[in-house]
Amino acid sequence: MKYISTRGDTTQRGFAEILLEGLAPDGGLYLPTHYPKVDAATLARWRGVYGGGRAGGYADLAFEILSLYIDDIPAADLKALVDKTYTAAVYGSDAIVPVRRLDGDLHIEALSNGPTLAFKDMAMQLLGNLFEYELGRRGQTLNILGATSGDTGSAAEYALRGKRGVNVFMLSPYGRMSPFQQAQMFSLQDANIHNLSVEGVFDDCQDIVKAVSNDLAFKRQYRIGTVNSINWARLLAQVVYYFAGYFQVTTADSQQVSFTVPSGNFGNVCAGHVARMMGLPIAQLVVATNENDVLDEFFRTGTYRVRGSAETFETSSPSMDISKASNFERFVFDLLGRDGARTAALFGPALTKDGGFTLTAEETARIASYGFVSGRSSHADRLATIKATWEAHQDMVDTHTADGLKVAREHLQSGTPMLVLETALPAKFAATIQEALGRDPLRPAALDGIEALPKRFTVMPVDAARVQDYIRQHG
Ligand SMILES: *Cc1c(COP(=O)(O)O)cnc(C)c1O
Repeated sequence: MKYISTRGDTTQRGFAEILLEGLAPDGGLYLPTHYPKVDAATLARWRGVYGGGRAGGYADLAFEILSLYIDDIPAADLKALVDKTYTAAVYGSDAIVPVRRLDGDLHIEALSNGPTLAFKDMAMQLLGNLFEYELGRRGQTLNILGATSGDTGSAAEYALRGKRGVNVFMLSPYGRMSPFQQAQMFSLQDANIHNLSVEGVFDDCQDIVKAVSNDLAFKRQYRIGTVNSINWARLLAQVVYYFAGYFQVTTADSQQVSFTVPSGNFGNVCAGHVARMMGLPIAQLVVATNENDVLDEFFRTGTYRVRGSAETFETSSPSMDISKASNFERFVFDLLGRDGARTAALFGPALTKDGGFTLTAEETARIASYGFVSGRSSHADRLATIKATWEAHQDMVDTHTADGLKVAREHLQSGTPMLVLETALPAKFAATIQEALGRDPLRPAALDGIEALPKRFTVMPVDAARVQDYIRQHG
């Protein structure tokens, strides 16, 4: 399999080549030249491979799917990498992504039982192992630089801790993360993990990352890399759990299911789009947003309107607080018949911080044929959903999953199983759980007392030069 850019550069690159890169040289995102089609016989075989949650079944399924997209890592090596990644020891069960039925056709697919209690572990754990493998093969090292307000940074740190050839420098806003999130990241004692606590807000952290990345000489000399959500390997890893979810709620491979995905940067649901393009029988892909509804607006109207910072709200489902969706370009490229020139015109420099575009009526009408629909949820909806779900089922969901449940109910079609992807556990969002239920969230026993562990972090001023000095000393 080869990969091309969404912006018209048709140079074909291999998986291992794009693995360590972010954007394509023309500023586009990488996509495979085509989506391998899964016929009915293969789907039936994969059902057996997953084996309804037998030990090793998920890793075997991941190997089948990844093999279709990765042909420049020897099969035995790729198998060893997925076997080491998807274990019950890391994800808490042999099913890895167990599905539970809530009521009627509504199910929850648990993606958040990895080390940081959010779905980002599903892909990041694989990425950590792929990075270590590829860097080792090339005899290279990499310094990962990132900014986080919570989920991404901790998932990256837990995926890369102790890995050979990689250092992580993660900037976070000093004193602005929840005590639990701070404890998760700052309690890591691995020598290759560096928490830089910046005396500013999240935007200051992001600006520092940008400034350092724009210093091309520094970037080259210190081999600065990223693990952000546009990385194709992350998206590919996520495709697997759409298949695993499907097998858990169907008995025959002709049956259709729908998925609802709490969405921010469109990485998670874009993997659902890929699964559907491969032939997984998905009726609807329901995009659920919070008050930051740029994606809901697009799927309802065909208008994509990037929000400025004044219009980007801080909500109680913070991992969906985005003003523009960084993976969205991938879907639009497919929607436009893979017209790279047109995609470049829409997403290139013309798309400013508060810019946007409107598709033609004909293009907008075509969205439905990709299965996409959408909806939006508010703080009040979130509280009501958490409360109702707890009272009716003694099932405690986090704020992002609650957004998904709220929107999923609006799109239920009788007889079609609806799987809501559980993107985090409630333990991460104690304040809102308190507000909804008047009690503390449930917490996995392994994380009891995490706030009391010794913390390891360095406080930094809002100054890119100081961060560069730190990387020179520790990279
Ligand atoms: C990252 C994240 C999301 C959004 O996922 P995207 O791939 O950016 O759409 C939703 N919920 C949680 C808990 C997250 O961490």
